[in-house]
Amino acid sequence: MRVLVTGAAGFIGSRLCQRLLDFGIEVHGLDDLSRGSLEKIRMLKNRGMLFHKADIRDGAAVLDVLSDVRPDAVIHLAALISVEESMRLPELYMEVNAEGTKKLVDAANKAGVNRLVHASSAAVYGEPVKLPVAEDHPTRPLSPYGLSKLMSEEYVVSGFMGREKSLIFRIFNVYGPGQRPEYAGVITKFMERLSEGRPPIIFGDGNQTRDFIHVDDVVEAFIRALEIPLERATIVNLGSGRPVKIIELARIMTRLYGMDAEPIHAPPRPGDIRDSYADISLVRKVLGWSPRISLEDGLRKLIKEAGKARDV
Ligand code: NAD
Repeated sequence: MRVLVTGAAGFIGSRLCQRLLDFGIEVHGLDDLSRGSLEKIRMLKNRGMLFHKADIRDGAAVLDVLSDVRPDAVIHLAALISVEESMRLPELYMEVNAEGTKKLVDAANKAGVNRLVHASSAAVYGEPVKLPVAEDHPTRPLSPYGLSKLMSEEYVVSGFMGREKSLIFRIFNVYGPGQRPEYAGVITKFMERLSEGRPPIIFGDGNQTRDFIHVDDVVEAFIRALEIPLERATIVNLGSGRPVKIIELARIMTRLYGMDAEPIHAPPRPGDIRDSYADISLVRKVLGWSPRISLEDGLRKLIKEAGKARDV
């Protein structure tokens, strides 16, 4: 099997490429290196990945790569991922995440790609009106990032012609090693403070909930998505299905660092949603996948890898 992964230099993409290489799959990575890490690409090339530097907004360049490689499947992770940045640069987010996906879909059709697996986001839902959030929940994104991801889904669902159809993951909050601190979620931000001996900062009362999923569980789902039979373009949530209060997360992490400090509370951030967690019954059914890494185990491992955790 030959797989092309866009966004291969990124947090999820690089971890996924490593795993695909472990399985002896021929892996081609594509990235423009605007945000990803050249170091990760070097490591993956040493392990046998073939790398193609290209911008997904450049349709001709992407078509050249796909026509050359002729992959059986494309996994599309390349995107700009910061909600805050998207508020400042909405056009750029539309260009890369929405139009870039359209160009990739067009090129994949021309190159005869059979399966497309696409990374979308829980940000397409906006403020949940019903919990847990299932795939038929209304989609009312609150940011240009969420809107650009919703549009990217449309291009995949309506545009991709591959015989083996497309699968779209609406991914919740991913954590794990290799996440870039500047765009990282709350877990990496808490780690930054705790590793300096400072208590985490919580915006608001901390009773807001999120759904955290370990990057290795995400990677496992993407790999399964390459092989399952599909009759039509399919959209599934990808999360743990477990709501975790931010205050609870802060306490678990503080304990893992061997500290007993109380978190600091800052005013709530305008526009932050209150509660969000995924209904994962569909992804369980479609992929036969379940999350395997509990938050406590995932955090313990992550913090240990960062060399700071006490044995607790
Ligand atoms: P990341 O920023 O680490 O990786 C994205 C990669 O895309 C980077 O290597 C970057 O250089 C590349 N890229 C950006 N613009 C490009 C362009 N124009 N052409 C080619 N490559 C380009 O992000 P990540 O956390 O690994 O996220 C991967 C995907 O998963 C994204 O589509 C994101 O929207 C989605 N997602 C991530 C999370 C999360 O919690 N990390 C949650 C939901 C959805």
